[in-house]
Amino acid sequence: MVEVTLEGVSKAYGTTDALVDVSLEIRDGEFFTLVGPSGCGKTTTLRLLAGFEEPTAGTIRFGGDDVAGVPPEDRDVGIVFQNYALFPTMTVAENVAYGLRFREPPGGGSTEDRVSELLDLVDLTGMGDRDPDALSGGQRQRVALARALAPGPSVLLLDEPMSALDARLRERLRVQVTEIQETLDITTVYVTHDQAEALAISDRVAVVNDGRIEQVADPETVYRQPATRFVAGFVGDNNLLDGEIVGRDPLTVAVDGQRLVLPAGVDAAVGDRVTVCLRPEALSVGGGPSRFEVEVEHVEFLGDAYRLHCTWQGRSLLVKSGSPASGTVTVGVEPGAIHVLDAAGD
Ligand code: ATP
Repeated sequence: MVEVTLEGVSKAYGTTDALVDVSLEIRDGEFFTLVGPSGCGKTTTLRLLAGFEEPTAGTIRFGGDDVAGVPPEDRDVGIVFQNYALFPTMTVAENVAYGLRFREPPGGGSTEDRVSELLDLVDLTGMGDRDPDALSGGQRQRVALARALAPGPSVLLLDEPMSALDARLRERLRVQVTEIQETLDITTVYVTHDQAEALAISDRVAVVNDGRIEQVADPETVYRQPATRFVAGFVGDNNLLDGEIVGRDPLTVAVDGQRLVLPAGVDAAVGDRVTVCLRPEALSVGGGPSRFEVEVEHVEFLGDAYRLHCTWQGRSLLVKSGSPASGTVTVGVEPGAIHVLDAAGD
């Protein structure tokens, strides 16, 4: 197992800057996820780690060693792509054994034993003789995982491995993948555009936007204390309101004349411009010391709650509620449920 670091890494394709000055420290045994919108540079980062591409600038280290110029087969990485990439003319067992083409099975056992050990690990015991065609999408992706893990790599790279699967299967597979990752304690870099998946699966998350890292933190911190406006808007639903600090004791912000009491401890002075982040679940119909009169325009039933699409002073406002509502309603927010961006010291 190793720690993976990127130091000032940039990658340009012609005039396109796919990555700009990216520095990351991925810890030994960590499940680390790169999440961001399409085209933000996630796959490029993974390709640089795998050795399929070389950075235009910067240094990548595995376990402290600079890997510049080291070809993919010598990097000690296992890779799983979005689209299985299994060989259709080989059986499941032959596909997994293919992972051992550059290396002896770790521990000195036979290829056959290693293949069956891996099939057990990914919960495909006894399926070695099947053709990939005779498997479900989730099973195929587990074969791809077994093949990547067969040589006992130090680092596992997963590029949107679940995006071709339906929602139910994706949830099942992500539990299996995290269990396998924990069992092996292997340093894992996972790429997804799905922010909910990133929060569910990771020890830490890097939110990537336009080739740059916006925030690196554990999932709860990314959700509750987004570092930037982009993160606040990309990870989960959020209401972002711009306002000005108008009072201390209690610290109060005014948004278009509406006053909101902010949590104690926010470092801001009267006159500062700030962005207030209100999660839909932080707004409750009826209660709270700071209140908005909103107009409910549309109601979505989510199963365990309702999402109220509201307007307030010409803006859209999302409210999560335990019951449906219509017409004009009052929604309130507690100071502790508010996150403030751009305040001094934030
Ligand atoms: P997606 O989620 O759609 O896969 P991504 O975040 O993985 O997106 P990348 O594939 O890393 O994004 O691409 C980052 C940027 O680099 C994009 O603007 C893309 O068009 C560009 N790019 C990637 N590979 C190449 C290439 N081989 N030649 C030219 N431009 C490229």
